[in-house]
Amino acid sequence: MQRLIALLLLTLPAAAQTGSDSAANIKAHMAFLASDDLKGREAGSPGYDKAADYVAAQMKALGLKPFGSSYFQPVPLVAARAKDKGQFSLREPSGKATTFEFGKDYVAGGDEAYPRIRITAPLVFVGYGLVAPEHKRDDYAGLDVKGKIVVALAGAPKFLQTEERAYYRTGSTKLKAAKDRGAVGFVSISTLTGEKLYPFANRARQFQNWGMSWRMKNGKPFSAVDLPLLTGISVAGAKKFLGARTDAILAAAETAQGAVKGFDLGLTMTAAMDSEVKTLESRNIVGWLPGSDPRLKGEYIVLSAHLDHIGITPPVKGDAINNGALDNAAGVATTLEVARLFQGKPPRRSLIFLVDTAEEKGLIGAEYFARNPPVPVSRIAADVDLDMPILTYDFTDVVAFGADRSSIGPAMARAAAKLNVKLSPDPMPDEGIFTRSDHYRFVEQGVPAVFLMTGYANGGEKAFAHFMKNNYHKPSDDLSQPINYSAGAKFAKLNYEVTRELADMDARPQWNKGDFFGVKFGRQ
Ligand SMILES: [Zn+2]
Repeated sequence: MQRLIALLLLTLPAAAQTGSDSAANIKAHMAFLASDDLKGREAGSPGYDKAADYVAAQMKALGLKPFGSSYFQPVPLVAARAKDKGQFSLREPSGKATTFEFGKDYVAGGDEAYPRIRITAPLVFVGYGLVAPEHKRDDYAGLDVKGKIVVALAGAPKFLQTEERAYYRTGSTKLKAAKDRGAVGFVSISTLTGEKLYPFANRARQFQNWGMSWRMKNGKPFSAVDLPLLTGISVAGAKKFLGARTDAILAAAETAQGAVKGFDLGLTMTAAMDSEVKTLESRNIVGWLPGSDPRLKGEYIVLSAHLDHIGITPPVKGDAINNGALDNAAGVATTLEVARLFQGKPPRRSLIFLVDTAEEKGLIGAEYFARNPPVPVSRIAADVDLDMPILTYDFTDVVAFGADRSSIGPAMARAAAKLNVKLSPDPMPDEGIFTRSDHYRFVEQGVPAVFLMTGYANGGEKAFAHFMKNNYHKPSDDLSQPINYSAGAKFAKLNYEVTRELADMDARPQWNKGDFFGVKFGRQ
C-alpha cells in the first residue's frame, strides 16, 4: 500500500512521456533506464528500485492492471560473495601435496547455501558428467562417486542439439547427476572452447561479485540441488588433476561426441571456503491486460524482460557504472512498447507483463515468479522473453529459441512473415543461450516459451562479435553505442505480432509430441 502511494506521487522525467512513435518511445525508456543515475540497476540496490518505480508508473500509464493493490511482487533475496580466495589443495596417496594459485589455476565464488565449507574427500573424474539416456550416454557408468568429490569438464558435448546441449551444461543438471549418485562436492574444469569464450582472467577479476538466490518461507536460500560447487579450474590448472593425460582429454572434449572416459583420480582434495552472506529485498514489476474472449481470458501469455543489470564493478577506462543499455534496458523498453501496441485492442487471452529482478544473478526473479505466480501456473499458456536485443544494426533475421518445440513454432513463422523477417538456426551453439534467460524458468515449470535473438544477417554477425567482445557486461554497454531505435521499433513489433498470435490462437500453445523439454517438464 505504501509503495503505491509513493508511486502515485512519483513525478516522471520529461523523457518518459510517450506517444505513437515506437522508436521515440524506446529511446525515451532507454534514456531513463540506462542513465548513470540508476548506477547499473543491480538487484537490491536503490538504482534498481528507481527503475522499478519507473516501470510501474509506465504500466499504470499504459492502462495495465496490477494483481491486487500494487504492481510490485516482493522478491526476498539472499546474496553471497567469497570472503577471500579460499584454500584448496590435493594430496597423493604418498602424502605429496599440490597447492593451487588463485586466478591462474582456480577461482571460487560465494555460496549462500554453504557459507562455510570445510571438506576433505577423494576425487573422481567423470568426463563431462553427461547422463543422457536418449543417447545411451552415461559418463558415470562404472564409476563410484559415493562420498567423493566429482571433477567434471564444464559444458556439454557438441553433438547435442543446441537447446538440449544448453540444458545438459547448466549447473543444476550437472550437479544433480553427481548428487543423485552420492557425491559430496563438485569441481568444474574449463574446456578450451569455454575459455576462449570467457577468459579465465575475467572470472578471476569478478570472483567477489555477489551471487544470489531467493529466500524460501523458512528463510533458507532456494537451491535446485543440494551440493556445493567447490571451485572452477582453468585449463592451466587442469594438469594438477589430470596429469599427463590432460592434453588428450581436452582434445577429446572438443570432438563432437566429447566421449572422455572418467577414472578415479587417486587424489584427495581439501577445500576451505567462506562466504559473506546478506539478505536483500527486491521486486518484480507485474501488470496485466485482461483478454477479450470470455472463454480464453482465464489463460495468460507472459511477456518477460529483466530490469536488473550488474551494477558497479571495478572501473574499466575510468568508468565503473555498468549501464546495461542493451542488457537489458532495451528489452524492458521494447516490452513496454509491446504493451502500448496492445492498447485499446486486447487479444483473446490475457497478457501478463513481467519485468523482473536478479536475472543476472541466475534468473532469480523469474524463478521466483514462475514458482509463486499470481495466477495458477497451469493457466500460463506461454512465455515470450525479451533479453539483450542487439539493436546496433537493422536486423533482417531472428533466432527463435524454443519456438520449434511447441505450437509456438508455426505462430512464430506467421509473425515473422508479417514483418518480412527471416528465422535462422542458432549461430552460437557454444553459448548455451536457451538456458541463460528468464524464459527457461517457465520451461522448467512446463510452460512452452520463445526467446528472440536478433540474427547474424545484414551486419548482425559483426555487431554481435563486437558487442560480446567489447561491451557485454562491461561499463561500455551504455547509450554511447550506435543504437538504431528503428530496429528497436521493429523488434517490439515482431514480439507484439508473435504475442498476438499466441494470445489469439484457438488452442493454447502445446509442446510437440515427445519434445525433449515437454517430456522433462511438461504437464502430461
Ligand atoms: Zn546480462
